[in-house]
Amino acid sequence: MDDTNPSDGRGGQPVTILAVRPHPDDESTSTGGMLAYYNARDVRTGVVICTGGEEGEIHDPDLDPVADRPRLGEIREREARDACAILGVAEFRMLGYRDSGMLDTPGNEHLAAFMNADRDEATGELVRIIRELRPSVIVTEPPGGMYPHPDHVMCYEISVEAFQAAGDAKAFPEAGQPWRAEKLYGIAQVDDGAWEALMPKFTAAGFDMSWAERSESNSRGPGPDTATVALDVRPYSEQQRQALLAHRTQVPPDSFLVSLPPELRRLAFATAYFVRLSPSSAPSEHELDLLEGLD
Ligand SMILES: [Zn+2]
Repeated sequence: MDDTNPSDGRGGQPVTILAVRPHPDDESTSTGGMLAYYNARDVRTGVVICTGGEEGEIHDPDLDPVADRPRLGEIREREARDACAILGVAEFRMLGYRDSGMLDTPGNEHLAAFMNADRDEATGELVRIIRELRPSVIVTEPPGGMYPHPDHVMCYEISVEAFQAAGDAKAFPEAGQPWRAEKLYGIAQVDDGAWEALMPKFTAAGFDMSWAERSESNSRGPGPDTATVALDVRPYSEQQRQALLAHRTQVPPDSFLVSLPPELRRLAFATAYFVRLSPSSAPSEHELDLLEGLD
């Protein structure tokens, strides 16, 4: 991977798709299949990770959860770089903030926490990366984040702002030549019924699925029709699994994510869904893939 940072912002080859994600490992979960899908089609991709993931757990048996904690940000950056190499990502950048931790945890107090960042400064940093890498398409969190973690929320907010500002010559003039990406997508959290249908097979394969059972308070999400793009990522299931395994501190080898039998895993994580945020998509609008309509 090339992570040189040419001062004129015009030194390298552009990427076509840029994924902006909050923590090391987020690139491999809901965007891992997508990144592998485009790599297989010789589309250059890039990943920006906003924080070092310093508030994460340490599951790697080769590390000491206490002694190695101060190095966790550094370790997780390495894991994310390894995962991105597996996913064929051409350009990797860190935005440089500290993991804020879950809401109402001590990590929130840290001055360097992403949630406490100056909004303009964080947007300006992302604008600089967008102007350097010149993506046609940017993929980020859904509105409000994948889940109510402050870094996921912040990632969405600055992505929307930076997507707009990067093309505006008057915004952040010190952050390079203006570059207008054509489309912005959010990851779409839709329920296509696949998990519900597979639940008996998960249980039969010996997995305790009580954590995933639907309750009345955990009702069915929006249907797959609400997504603009549905990518069939089944062929990249093993590649995505290898990328997840690169996150040794976060994903123990017996984790559900990586230990399902291959065929079950392909079915469980068959489709990656995205919704076009800008230009905003009509409710029933569908595109074949993220690059539809581009040259
Ligand atoms: Zn995350």
